[in-house]
Amino acid sequence: PENGGCGSTDTGVKVIVRMRPLSSNEEGETIVQKTSSDSLSMLGHQFTFDHVADIDIFQIVGAPLVENCLAGFNSSIFAYGQTGSGKTYTIWGPANTLLEETSSSKEQGLTPRVFARLFSRINEEQNIHADKQLMYQCRCSFLEIYNEQITDLLNPSQRNLHLREDSKTGVYVENLTEETICCMKDVTQLLKKGLSNRRTGSTSLNSESSRSHSVFTCVVESSCKSVDGLRCFKTSRMNLVDLAGSERQKLTGAAGERLKEAGNINRSLSQLGNLINILAEVSQTGKQRHIPYRDSKLTFLLQESLGGNAKLAMICAISPAQSCKNETFSTLRFAQRAK
Ligand code: ADP
Ligand code: MG
Repeated sequence: PENGGCGSTDTGVKVIVRMRPLSSNEEGETIVQKTSSDSLSMLGHQFTFDHVADIDIFQIVGAPLVENCLAGFNSSIFAYGQTGSGKTYTIWGPANTLLEETSSSKEQGLTPRVFARLFSRINEEQNIHADKQLMYQCRCSFLEIYNEQITDLLNPSQRNLHLREDSKTGVYVENLTEETICCMKDVTQLLKKGLSNRRTGSTSLNSESSRSHSVFTCVVESSCKSVDGLRCFKTSRMNLVDLAGSERQKLTGAAGERLKEAGNINRSLSQLGNLINILAEVSQTGKQRHIPYRDSKLTFLLQESLGGNAKLAMICAISPAQSCKNETFSTLRFAQRAK
């Protein structure tokens, strides 16, 4: 019944826009208006996406993520947008109530709700298919990519980890911590630990946290007995990704390491954008195209979750404030293009 949202149709890429409310210190009027369930208007321009979401974001992308993953597809949710637009709020939850069991589900971020749903669906499936001894196992990792370097958020002394490729297991991060999870408490613990290890908790412009991508991955493995009595195994991945702020890093005045960093961040975001465009085109036209996964750590790491049968939802977060006009316009253009 929840399959009305993203991932339920044939194309692998869905673009959803979420507009946060004006904050108390933002003056003036909202410069973006929702005109239907899938369109917005801004200063005389019309934009159309797969969906314009708000508190229904879990129904639109969260529940389908779980269903896609259980159906065997690698499935991901990305949050894209300028710093302060609501990416972190959407993916993990509001900062002060972050992951508190007492917070109402309306205020929870996607990740805790996704895992609550995952566990309840796994229980259901295991009961339905008890005769086949269906069993699920979930393992999670949490990492940060900053300036093209990978840090293990579950063990931050592990910095500058290497991406490896193996013909059997595919792409993986060498020495990355993986924890088995069995219940919500396990997930909450991992999230709390990982989030506290991010570069900084602050979302002020140009803080380091706004320049890094954080990626929470869950590998879901199932095994069951087939008719001939052999065991069969299935694996799929779920990725929840809080991207670096989409505002262009200023190159003027920057020097040395800072200049290199700014260049890396701009490059990795525009490469992700290009990749999403290509994937959308491939999934709509069926035409073969060269897919440039190797251009950045993020796309190389996630390549098995981006192409082929993978399901992606790109949540483009925007602010309705006058002061964010240019960045909002450029995010909406990106979202429109990505479709
Ligand atoms: P980002 O991660 O994109 O930099 P944040 O998620 O930190 O942005 O959000 C910036 C501010 O806006 C925070 O104070 C957050 O609580 C608030 N906010 C974001 N989205 C919403 C929303 N949908 N409803 C209410 N407040 C929101
Ligand atoms: Mg953030």
